[in-house]
Amino acid sequence: MDRVTPNSLTPKSDLLQANLERAAPLLAKLNAEGISHMIGGESVPSISGAQFETRSPIDGAVLANVARGNTEDIDRAATAASLAFRAWRDIGATMRRKLLQRVADAIEDHADDIAVLECIDTGQAHRFMAKAAIRAAENFRFFADKCSDARDGLNMPGEEHWNVSTRVPIGPVGVITQWNTPFMLSTWKIAPALAAGCTVVHKPAEWSPVTADLLAKLVKQAGVPDGVLNTVHGLGEEAGKALTEHPAIKAIGFVGESATGSAIMAQGAPTLKRVHFELGGKNPVIVFDDAELDRALDAVVFMIYSLNGERCTSSSRLLIQESIADKFIEKLAARVRALKVGHPLDPATEIGPLIHERHLAKVRGYFDVARKDGAVIAVGGAPHDGPGGGHYVQPTLVLGATRHMRVAQEEVFGPFLTVIPFRDEAEAVEIANDVRYGLTGYVWTSDMGRALRVSDALEAGMIWLNSENVRHLPTPFGGMKASGIGRDGGDYSFDFYMETKHVSLARGTHKIQRLGI
Ligand code: NAD
Repeated sequence: MDRVTPNSLTPKSDLLQANLERAAPLLAKLNAEGISHMIGGESVPSISGAQFETRSPIDGAVLANVARGNTEDIDRAATAASLAFRAWRDIGATMRRKLLQRVADAIEDHADDIAVLECIDTGQAHRFMAKAAIRAAENFRFFADKCSDARDGLNMPGEEHWNVSTRVPIGPVGVITQWNTPFMLSTWKIAPALAAGCTVVHKPAEWSPVTADLLAKLVKQAGVPDGVLNTVHGLGEEAGKALTEHPAIKAIGFVGESATGSAIMAQGAPTLKRVHFELGGKNPVIVFDDAELDRALDAVVFMIYSLNGERCTSSSRLLIQESIADKFIEKLAARVRALKVGHPLDPATEIGPLIHERHLAKVRGYFDVARKDGAVIAVGGAPHDGPGGGHYVQPTLVLGATRHMRVAQEEVFGPFLTVIPFRDEAEAVEIANDVRYGLTGYVWTSDMGRALRVSDALEAGMIWLNSENVRHLPTPFGGMKASGIGRDGGDYSFDFYMETKHVSLARGTHKIQRLGI
């Protein structure tokens, strides 16, 4: 089996060399052992014995053979999650907090390993993945500290009754995740579910199974009881579908494409699954002529070209006021031309290879779409010949687009920015909302009245004013329209993973209607 080796690259910076050397023994182990499911605390192959290969987007080398789960494996995992549920629900908030803090410690201890493995499995640049592992630990710490609040409810006194609400965990839940920043985003779902007292069956994306396996092992190592987190690898239409259909699974937390969300809703209907969807986006960044333009430029570049543009919250549409468009675009184009595409483990790299050849083909397809629809590719628009010969693509800037073109409407999910000029505030809002998605919106202006008017008018779940996307864990995270259903973050996560229960106690001897006398 081929592996990515330290010798596959020349020349090497010291830091790149250090990252490659860190990766080498991890890859050798992965290659030799492969990736199994984690079910009931045991590392097990698929019952059928089936496997699939996970390959690195850097050079196509096979990283590991991965267990390919199906209905039987999901059933085994759902049974393990059901058996573990009551004990985990009743373990007490103090102990649950302690265990989840230990998971956070374990993630921190392995942050460097997680970062290099994530880069090699997904193609994401190390400068971003190094922070992703730390953010994953923060997710666990944040929700660990909220364990004691999870059951909180309201006091709603009536005339004759004392009414309160309380919350109880919904039961075993399924978590189905995507491949962009997979480690960090899976903890964003799994940590609150565990803090709520739910047990979990996780089905990670088939294109990025490596760090999901590591997470399952770290959770076990931290002392979380067997069966509380189960991980079943496999394809969406097999393992994922079976998870959404399993009667013991009470809810599905899902991150992925909008079309998959629709499929999951239909699959989960017969068992009345509660669903929480974090889906795609075609997010606008609106830059008005009174904005602080240098900062706006930094944010525009960062929010589409970081994380390979494979980012749900990316601002993939730049709406620029006509009066400043030429000057702003000139500076923007220079920045896009200067972006460093390279090996993901090289600390200098800003854009690594895209996750998979099918995804590369999709992004390349949009170069043709742009040209065919009459837009102009001002920068990029072609594959990039990067180290290892993997799925590299040039960062791309599309001008001359109109709002109804496909490049202005569809999620490309790559380093691909479409620019659309606007005349005034009303037109900016109209263009911004004229898509099926509604995840985020970014507004740059120094007129605070306008900032608030536009944020009110934008059809999006999250708005940043004069800022790039900066996550604050207590705030609600999620989208409107085809971008999602439900919110994560802070207490919002508990609303999904828990049932709210009303308890009513009669204060005295109120009058009860007497029948049948
Ligand atoms: P995807 O929908 O193809 O796959 C996501 C997961 O769903 C994978 O684990 C896959 O195996 C599984 N799956 C596929 N078909 C299934 C089925 N029929 N039943 C059950 N599970 C199934 O998405 P992707 O390509 O992995 O991820 C990219 C998408 O995710 C983009 O659209 C992006 O915008 C979105 N995303 C959204 C957020 C957010 O917070 N809103 C965050 C990250 C990514």
